[in-house]
Amino acid sequence: MSCPTLVKSAVISALAGFCLVSSAQDHELTTDVVVIGGGISGLSSAMSVLDHGGKVAVLEKLPGLGGAGNYFEGAFAADSDYKRRNGLKEPTADQVYKDVVRFYNYRINAVVLRTLINESGPAMDWIETKGYKF
Ligand SMILES: Cc1cc2nc3c(=O)[nH]c(=O)nc-3n(C[C@H](O)[C@H](O)[C@H](O)COP(=O)(O)OP(=O)(O)OC[C@H]3O[C@@H](n4cnc5c(N)ncnc54)[C@H](O)[C@@H]3O)c2cc1C
Repeated sequence: MSCPTLVKSAVISALAGFCLVSSAQDHELTTDVVVIGGGISGLSSAMSVLDHGGKVAVLEKLPGLGGAGNYFEGAFAADSDYKRRNGLKEPTADQVYKDVVRFYNYRINAVVLRTLINESGPAMDWIETKGYKF
């Protein structure tokens, strides 16, 4: 899909092969995919587009990227290569699951939680392949 975009009156952070353009001025962009919101979800989506050889523009309303991800204190990273390499065998995904379920007094969507925990390790490993150092 070719998507020429003219965005007015907005702060734009455009990622095209991770070249960051930040401006309140009008820009005309040609891209395959437009991601609205440059939080962790949006940036991961943009990275996936790049992984598949596409061109992507991320439109972020705030002056900076990262969204709530700028306030992270930690990640489950359950059963990740990072933890294995660093001798951090515990907590395992099963232990994290049990602890979190107990923390929420068993009133939590178990399928969503289990998916979140199961994917937390591979997600961390994937981020590392992008050159990020934890
Ligand atoms: C204080 C705090 C601490 C946290 N600590 C942790 C932690 O330790 N570990 C953990 O795993 N998780 C933590 N979380 C949760 C985690 O940060 C969020 O779940 C995650 O960052 C959400 O990412 P997101 O991209 O889905 O959403 P967001 O981060 O909300 O990103 C959405 C982005 O879209 C932009 N946007 C919205 N509307 C528009 C629009 N109309 N046009 C353009 N841009 C728009 C927003 O400005 C924002 O940048 C914490 C959250 C908070 C608030």
